[in-house]
This record gives sequence, structure tokens and C-alpha cells, in this order.
Amino acid sequence: MKLRKTSWIDGQWVDGKSKVDVLNPATGKSLAKVAQLDAEQIGEAVSAADRAYRSGVWSSKTPQQRAAVLSRAAGILRRRSEEFAQVETANVGKPLKESRFIDVAAAIDTLEYYSSIAGLLSGESPRVGDGMIDFTRREPIGVVGLITPWNFPVMLAVRKLAPALLAGNTAVLKPATVTPLTTLLLAEVLAEAELPAGVANIVTGSGGMVGKVLSEHPAVHKVSLTGSAEVGSKLMAACAGDLKATCMELGGKSPAVVCRDADMEKAVDGVLFGAFLNQGECCCAATRLLLDKPIAKKFLDRFIEAVKGKIVLGDPAEEKTTMGPLISREHLDRVAGYVDRAEREGGKVLYRGEVGGLAAGGFWYPPVVMQADPSMEIYREEVFGPVLAVTVFDGLDALLAAANDTDYGLAASIFTESMPTAERAVRELAAGTVWVNCHNVVFNAAPYGGYKHSGIGRECGVEGLLAYTQIKNAIIYGGSAPFGWY
Ligand code: NAP
Repeated sequence: MKLRKTSWIDGQWVDGKSKVDVLNPATGKSLAKVAQLDAEQIGEAVSAADRAYRSGVWSSKTPQQRAAVLSRAAGILRRRSEEFAQVETANVGKPLKESRFIDVAAAIDTLEYYSSIAGLLSGESPRVGDGMIDFTRREPIGVVGLITPWNFPVMLAVRKLAPALLAGNTAVLKPATVTPLTTLLLAEVLAEAELPAGVANIVTGSGGMVGKVLSEHPAVHKVSLTGSAEVGSKLMAACAGDLKATCMELGGKSPAVVCRDADMEKAVDGVLFGAFLNQGECCCAATRLLLDKPIAKKFLDRFIEAVKGKIVLGDPAEEKTTMGPLISREHLDRVAGYVDRAEREGGKVLYRGEVGGLAAGGFWYPPVVMQADPSMEIYREEVFGPVLAVTVFDGLDALLAAANDTDYGLAASIFTESMPTAERAVRELAAGTVWVNCHNVVFNAAPYGGYKHSGIGRECGVEGLLAYTQIKNAIIYGGSAPFGWY
């Protein structure tokens, strides 16, 4: 497996004074020692992005010329997709099928999607009166700082980079310290696609330090984070000092509501996909299962049978595996701590899978389904693991009220065969994405983001592109008489 272990600044591979071991979570062994840059080097990355921006080498190209680079990058990534999937699985621990058909496929699709909508970077020309010409220009923001988490590394890096670059910005992108490998390989893809040096810079280093440099550096004009609500809040506060724009894609505590008229098979499969995709390490995972009283027992019996039969915990590189290890020892302890505390609070474990015979040293945690009460920590806080909290409510009013009883609002799903119920749920659920009869499906062409503590701003779709632009209004006086009254 060919890996990159250094950062990429101004088109050059740059080493750091210190290194960090990047682990394979299935074995706990080191995959690579990756450079950790210091604040001065991150500042150099910002300066490189600033020089590239000011030179016009990228921002003065037409959107279509920039789109051509993204389109080439999509082709290169497609050619190297199996290699990227293997590295993503080794570093994140997600099943290979997921790396292939979700992470890498979505990264390619995002590059292709944004390369296809360059024409939207146009302006308007409002009619403002004779003798005056008014038109608007969608201009780039300048240097943008992009920070990504560890759960979908290459997909989320491209989700920020593609619209930011199409809009004409230059960027400094920082992946999570535990999962930098595919993001560093992405630099090779961008170089081969002939992205000019300095336009995208990919840096490795601690989040707190990089966040500080990006939020304080005067050349950075926008910072976009995908990460936890806690880090998002701190980073926004830091960016406020210099009035930088921000985009925050944060955590969730998404409900899956199963109504009494749901199609049971559809609902069982939908909730399985919602709760256990990527080991439950998904921002929009179904973490609260809200069951309508008349079908609660029947659904749970079938659901637990399905978890037993379909969730195969094991080596993520094996094709039969449907659930891999958690990302780190620290995260495993955190997830286990939530479940232990929930049991002490009176939550009843309805099903707990087995962790036996798996590689010693791996960060294994089994799927857990537990009955929980709305007052409990596990019902309210983001666990970010394969842990589903189940609560029973009677009737649609109670189910929808319970679904909205959370500080978060990233996503919500409802399983029903009734169109009026689905329509009401779409209106009433306070979440950035509402799914009906499915969960955990996201399209590049549609906006994605959170209500409440789940975030500010949107990624993907046209909104995701326009978020990396600012509008200039131009007013040209074309009259022959002198302008004004003095
Ligand atoms: P995290 O701890 O918030 O870290 C996310 C990124 O922020 C990492 O690159 C991290 O760097 C960096 N960071 C840490 N402290 C920082 C600071 N003070 N200033 C600036 N950056 C800082 O989150 P995570 O544990 O990696 O990811 C899981 C979280 O992401 C969950 O809450 C999940 O819901 C959320 N998420 C949201 C979405 C969405 O689209 N809404 C998608 C995926 C994940 P280091 O790695 O060096 O610490």
C-alpha cells in the first residue's frame, strides 16, 4: 500500500519536525508515521494559498476552466478508486464495501457534480433605471480553511474542496489527525489534474493548533469545519474575532420513527442501515429508534433478529464483513462508557453482539440495542458508535414531539405507508434532512446540513457552491449628463 506521510504545500511535499503514528483500527498497529506540522508551517500553507489567490492563476480562470481540472481529478480518482478504498478501509476500519461504494464513489461523484455546474457561477442584471447598468458578480471569498473529521475522510475532504475550488478560492485543508491517509493521497490526484501549485494545500497537524492559525490569520476569509458541536462552537468563537465567515457541519442525535402503518421489512432494513452503517460513526446515524406502541414488540423482535443475522463484525478488509472496529481505543472507551452509564441509569440492553476471535489489538465494539428513557444521557448525547437507543411512544403526535426533543437537528427519518403522515413529518421534523422510508442516504446534488446544534450553513448542491462565493454588485452610470446634483 503506497502511502503519503508528509503535507502538501505550494505543490511540494513538506515534512514536520514531529510525527504521529496513524493506526489501523482493526489491529491497533501503525500504518504510517505522519508529519505533524507546527504553527509556522501552517502559516506558510496559508501564505502559499494567499499568493496563489492573489496571482490570479486560479481565481481569474473561468468557472469552466476550473471545472475542467475538477473533471480531470474525478477521472484520476476513478482510475485509482480501488487503491483509495483499500487505504480508507485500512485507516478508518470501515468495511471495504462501504469505502468502495460510499466514500470513494461519493468523492468521485462530488467532483463530477461540481464540474458540471460551473455555469451557475453567473450574475444577475436587475433593471434599475435608464442610464444605469447594474449587474452582480459571484466572486470567490479568497483563502478558505477547511477542517474535516475522521469518519468519512476522503468524501468529506472533497465535499469541501470541490465547491471551494470551483468558485475560485484557494484552500488550506486539514484532515483529522487519526485519518489523514486518503486526504494526503488526494494531493497526488490534484497535482496530476494540473491544479496550479498553492491553490490547494493539504496539511497535517493538531486540530487546536491549525484551528488557531486559520481563525487568526488575516489572509483566511472563511473557515469550514465538519466535526463535533463542541469544536464547532469553539472555532466559531475564535473566527468571530476577525469576523471570518464560517460553515459548521456538526453532530447529531437523529431519530428513526417507525409508525404503526410502516412496512415492517422496509423499516427493519432502513433502521439497520441508519443505525449501523460505518459502525454507527455517522453524523446523521439513526441513534434514537422511536417506536409506535402497537407495533413496538413485533418490530423489535424482527429488528433484533436482523441485527443478529446481518451485522457481521470483523476484519473490514474481508468482503463478508458489514461492521468494522471503532476508530480508536479512546473512542471505544467513550462508546463503552455511554453504554455502561446507561445501564446504571436503568437502561435495559435488549441485544448486545459478540466480540470474539477478532484480532487482538483491534478496537472492537459490538452492536448494542438498548431500551432508553428520554431523560437518559444515551438518549440525548451523540454516542457515535453502533448503539441504538429504543423508546416507545403512543401515536404520531407523541412520536413527532419526541423526535424533535433534542438539541440537535441534523436528520430524521420516518417509516410509514401513509402519505399524509409522511407529508406531516416532512413539515414538522426540525432537521436539515428528513427521510421517508430510508435513512443515511445523501445526494451530492442536494443540500446537506443541520438545524439547531447540528450546524450552520449547507454543503452539497447549489447552496454548497454558493457558500464559497460572495456577491459583488456593480453599478455603471452610462448617462451623458453629469452624475449627481452638485
Ligand atoms: P472533532 O473532534 O470535532 O474533530 C474534527 C476536526 O476538527 C478534526 O480535524 C480535528 O483535528 C479538528 N479540531 C479539533 N479541535 C479543533 C479546534 N480547536 N479548532 C479547529 N479544529 C479542531 O470531530 P471528530 O471526532 O473528528 O468527528 C466526529 C464528529 O464529527 C461527530 O460529532 C460527527 O457528528 C461530526 N460529523 C458531522 C458531519 C456533518 O456533515 N454534519 C459529518 C461527519 C461528522 P484533530 O483530528 O487533530 O483533533
